[in-house]
Parts: sequence; C-alpha cells; structure tokens
Amino acid sequence: MWIFCSHAYNRIVILLKDNKGTVPMIWQQCLQNLKSKLSEAVFQMYFANLDCVEESPSKVVVEAPHEVDVQLINRSYKGLFELAYQEETGRNVEIEIRHPRKSHSEPAQPSFTAFPGIALSDEYRFTNFVVGKNSQFAYSAAYAVAQAPGKTKFNPLLIYGGSGLGKTHLIQAIGNFVKQQNHEKHVRYITSDDFMREYVESLKNDRISELSMFYRNKVDLLLMDDLQFLSGRNETQNEFFHIFNALHQAGKQIVLTSDHPPSEVKGLEERLISRFQWGLCVDIQPPDVETREAILRKKADALKLDDISDDVIKFLASSIDGNVRLLEGAVRKLLLQASIRNSEIDIEMAREIVVSLGTTIRKRINLDDIISVVAEYFSVDDDKILEGGRGTKEVAQARQVAMFLMKELSNLSLKSVGRRFGDRDHSTVVHAIKTVQKLMESDTTFKRTIESLKHKIQV
Ligand code: ADP
Ligand code: MG
Repeated sequence: MWIFCSHAYNRIVILLKDNKGTVPMIWQQCLQNLKSKLSEAVFQMYFANLDCVEESPSKVVVEAPHEVDVQLINRSYKGLFELAYQEETGRNVEIEIRHPRKSHSEPAQPSFTAFPGIALSDEYRFTNFVVGKNSQFAYSAAYAVAQAPGKTKFNPLLIYGGSGLGKTHLIQAIGNFVKQQNHEKHVRYITSDDFMREYVESLKNDRISELSMFYRNKVDLLLMDDLQFLSGRNETQNEFFHIFNALHQAGKQIVLTSDHPPSEVKGLEERLISRFQWGLCVDIQPPDVETREAILRKKADALKLDDISDDVIKFLASSIDGNVRLLEGAVRKLLLQASIRNSEIDIEMAREIVVSLGTTIRKRINLDDIISVVAEYFSVDDDKILEGGRGTKEVAQARQVAMFLMKELSNLSLKSVGRRFGDRDHSTVVHAIKTVQKLMESDTTFKRTIESLKHKIQV
C-alpha cells in the first residue's frame, strides 16, 4: 500500500515500501541506473543494501546499514545518486543518505516484542576479531564467558577502553556465540541509553513492573553496551541495580562495556561500581603497529582486496591511529578509490586517504618537520626559509615548497601559513602554492621530488 498525505500539506510523502516490503519500480530503476554508472564491486558494496524509506517532491531519504558507508556515499556519490534519480524521474531532488534510526532496528527475537531491544549484528564474531597484545586478555575473558555463560568467575564481565577499539564487537560476539550454541537462550543486547529510554517509556506508560519482570524472567544473557551513558541517571541506575542483582542471583551472565573503568565513570553510583567489581574488569588498549597491520590485512581480505601490497598495509598501519574503526574506514575508502579510478591501489592513493582522515592521523604533522625536510633537500638553513627577506634563489624556492607542503599537510589557513614565514601576506602564500603546482604539472622530476618530500614528512 502506498500512502499519500494530502496535497494540501504541500508535501507529498510516499512510503516507498508497501506493507509487503516490496520496493516500487522507480527505486529499482534508480538503482539500475546507478549500477550502469559504477563498477560491480562498488555497487554491491555500497548500494545493493540501500533502503529507500521516504520520498517527497524535494527530498528522498535512503538508509544504509553501515555508518561508514553513509559518510562515504554522502561524500562521493550523492551527486551521482541525484543525477540517477533525475534521469529516471525527471525530477531534481536532494537525496539524504542516513543510518537507520535505532527505532528502525529489528526486534532481537519474536518473544521480545514487548521490549524490542537491538538486534545483534552478524558481523561481530570471535572468528573475525584480530587478537593482539592490546586485546588478548579481553578476548580470552569474553570467549570464556561465551563458552560457559554464568558459570565462570567473570560475572559480570566488564570490558572498557577507548572508542573504536572493539568493545561492541566483542560484546556482540559473545551474544552471537551463545545464540549459535543454543538457540533457546534469550540474549538481550542493549546500550545503556536505550535501556534508559526503555525505562522512561515504561514509566510513562505505567509498565515499569512489566519491564522489570521481563528482564528478570526473559533474559538469560544480558549484554549492556556503553555503560557510561547511565552517568547521572539515578533512577535508571536504580532500576538497573535491581535487575542486575536478580539476574546475578539467578546465575545469569551479565556483560558490560564502558569507555572508562567503572570507578572513573562520573555519576555512577557506588553500589553499582562495587557490583561490577564482583566479576572481572578488563581493558582493551589501542593496537600496536603489528596488530594494526594484521587488522588491515583481515579487513582487506574480507573485502576481497587481494592486490593490496604489504607496503600499503605498512604505510596505513604506521600512519593511522590505534582506532580500528578508522583502519576499517581506510580500507573501504581504498576499495572505493581504486574502483572509481579503475586503478591499482598504491601508496599515493593510501596517502591521500590518510590525509583525508585529517586530524585523526596518528602522526600529527609537525610544522618544524616540514621546514627541516625541505631545508635539508634544498641545502639551505631552516632559519633562512622562515626569515622575512627574499634570500637566494634556492631559499626562495625552498620557501615556496615549504609553504605548499604546509598548506597541503596541515589544516592551517593561508593567513596562518603566511604568518609562520616571516609574517608574509596570504597572497604570497597563494602565489607560492600556484608556482609549485604549475611546476609540478610541467616537470615530472619536480613532481616526484615533492611527493618524496611529502612522504618523508608523513612517515
Ligand atoms: P567500540 O565499541 O570499542 O567503539 P567497535 O567494536 O564498534 O568499537 O569497533 C569498531 C570497528 O572496528 C568495528 O567495525 C569492529 O568490527 C572493528 N574492530 C575493532 N577491533 C577489531 C579487531 N581487533 N579485529 C577486527 N575488527 C575490529
Ligand atoms: Mg561501541
């Protein structure tokens, strides 16, 4: 069934899925159109799983299952998408690509419909988690708990660590493992802020005792992600405290994650903190460079990127921070770039991706490094490059190159770059950049020199 709101609203909203979940022709045509414009790999990876959820005369809303893809599609494909839509419908619309809202997530299992919760993602498995020194302990504890929920000393198990280090992956891997071993087990995965919403909704609808019974009687394994959001929510914490006690007493396993050790989560009640210490608190640290390489390899294999060289892997592992989410993002971007340009993945492409990750690059570009690398290459003094006067021909060229690299490798404005070089005007910086760019276009040796200087500064 298609639902049209009245024209009087000056906005027609069409739900693009009918109640049987069939997707209408227009959307299929758009996808076909896009398919013809993209390589098969890219289409399958980013577009085959898109869902069109809303359409109005000026806007079409599309949902992508992965957050990284949302960013990527928005950045690289929005225009193409809009073009495809226009070609198929003759209409100019804005396409909004977004991640499904939590409320759209599927119920965890049918018997849980009273309190739907969040479904486990199939992708989070022990088998595709790369174990390094940083995560060995957390991994072993999680695995032990998954094999014998409620029967180890690790109850509760609390895993803490910074963002993007694999906490959600591990906690969901426990859930997936337990479900795989025994389909009957009721695994409840929830983030603490969803738990809070559930609690508030139940209060509003006079269903608090129902909620409480539900957790006590229907849950065999409780997985609570991102505990830190309970901070300062005293009533929610109180409810959780009672649920925790009841489950624990009944020998049910509880697993939690947090961005900090519980004693450092501000606004968390003492009695909860002490409960968490009954079991085991383990941390996940950022992966070291070898582990980052192993993670990149694994992610590349999973995406069937076999032709990615060791050099590229090593370069990415040494340039990107310990955040695994970023490592994963870099691999996906590489695949995308290689397919857009229809070329092999090389260091240059990897470097562009690292630069585009901007502030998250592990090795923050040190401005002094730029000056000293350039000064060394042109055999001039660092100070000469930075001075106000013109200097020799070599000094002038070194300065232009340094300005160019500084603009390219940092987030500095033209004005700030000028200020660093003896308080020069921003138009001088523009001139320097243009001069270097022109020379790079006409002289391939010079271009190679600039690339190698860039490499030296970054690695
Ligand atoms: P957190 O919950 O700690 O913020 P996530 O578990 O969401 O981090 O991890 C971010 C991304 O990185 C996920 O896609 C996850 O699969 C991946 N990831 C994290 N650590 C690892 C690892 N050790 N091996 C493989 N993938 C990992
Ligand atoms: Mg997480």
